[in-house]
Amino acid sequence: MSIDSKRAFKLLEKIGFIRTSGSEEELRAAKILLEEISSIGCQGYMEDFKAPSSKITKATLKVVEPYEKEYEITPYNYSIGTPKGGITTDFVYIEDGHDANLVDIKGKFVLINKRPDLKLYKKLIEAGIAGYITMSGTAIDEEDKTDIAVSRVDKKYTQYGKIPAVNMRTKDCFDMVKNKTTKIKVEIIIEDIELTSQNVVVTLEGSKYPDEIISFGAHYDSVPFSTGVYDNGAGSVIIMELLRHFKENPPMRTLKFMWYGSEEVGLLGSKAYLKAHKEELKKHLLMINVDVAASVLGREMALVTAEENVVDYVGHMAKIKGLPLNVKQSIYSSDSTAFADKGIPSITFCRFAPKGGAFIHTRNDVLDFLSTEALEKTTIITKEFSESVINSVVFPFEKKIPDNMKKDLDKYFNKEPDKEDSDENKK
Ligand SMILES: [Zn+2]
Repeated sequence: MSIDSKRAFKLLEKIGFIRTSGSEEELRAAKILLEEISSIGCQGYMEDFKAPSSKITKATLKVVEPYEKEYEITPYNYSIGTPKGGITTDFVYIEDGHDANLVDIKGKFVLINKRPDLKLYKKLIEAGIAGYITMSGTAIDEEDKTDIAVSRVDKKYTQYGKIPAVNMRTKDCFDMVKNKTTKIKVEIIIEDIELTSQNVVVTLEGSKYPDEIISFGAHYDSVPFSTGVYDNGAGSVIIMELLRHFKENPPMRTLKFMWYGSEEVGLLGSKAYLKAHKEELKKHLLMINVDVAASVLGREMALVTAEENVVDYVGHMAKIKGLPLNVKQSIYSSDSTAFADKGIPSITFCRFAPKGGAFIHTRNDVLDFLSTEALEKTTIITKEFSESVINSVVFPFEKKIPDNMKKDLDKYFNKEPDKEDSDENKK
């Protein structure tokens, strides 16, 4: 049997360290993947690309009225700082940013319940706020057991301008609102920098239809504080297992296996690949992505950004094989979405944990909540599906993205700033 989930889990342990976009650790993980690829007898290579980031040298926030207390903050990447020495401004809690909350906020630092969407961001800039604060975590978090998430200002947002933006613990925000904070002093020193990140790529030439390409993708980077084994070391080792399988069982169509860097900071790896290989894309028929897997508790999902008949096919296949797979036509916040946006039908296979059953984007994304048995489930499903289409006599799907999915993609990539933006389907 070519699938060995114990072996895959061992590789997961090997890459289970924090590997953020453009870091030395991300590069180290890429090299481990390359070593594994050569041990399979394949030739892999790295493709570098630029990953914008921010260097923060100072970030402080202090309540000055009606009491004095300093709170920990984490500035958004690609946001801007305050003048040196900081600014002292009025503080106001604007809840979800309802229009009625936006009256008289000029020059003030505002606290919002969630990250502003593009529409609200524009309104905040136009209102002339001094900066904004968003929340990370819960009101009952323990400081020494949690971290403040690192967010970033989407490039699309900056067309309206840049302002200071920070994340704070929900617990501290709660404290500030409850104690009727009116004035704060903020100092942030931050600058834009450029790091280098990389994708790892392997090609297996098709025996019968070499000009028809199906690609497997998984991002191997993690967010800060997180060893990113559930998200997405697991997907990375699953497609490695599939590379082994197809190396032993040569495919009729050409396969590309891609481990994307810097997915967590805006799908940079897949976007870089798409940009660098425009000609090749004409041959791409389908992108198969694996992102989050191996949680002990969970359910198997296939999120299909393609026509209804693909959704039906995946669902039927799972039933015929007796695989408990939940299939849905949808976009997914991962590299598959970047491919679909370029007209390439895509499917993400994933294992979603029930709430609190496994964790992403925190220090709790650790091996303790994962198992070999669970890892195997997503591996088998992805293998069964991909094998059936890779070796089909006639490729069964049209290369087409339906209009409803196109609309969702436009919304996801903020192509229509005046339409309602939503966080649905975003992780
Ligand atoms: Zn992910």
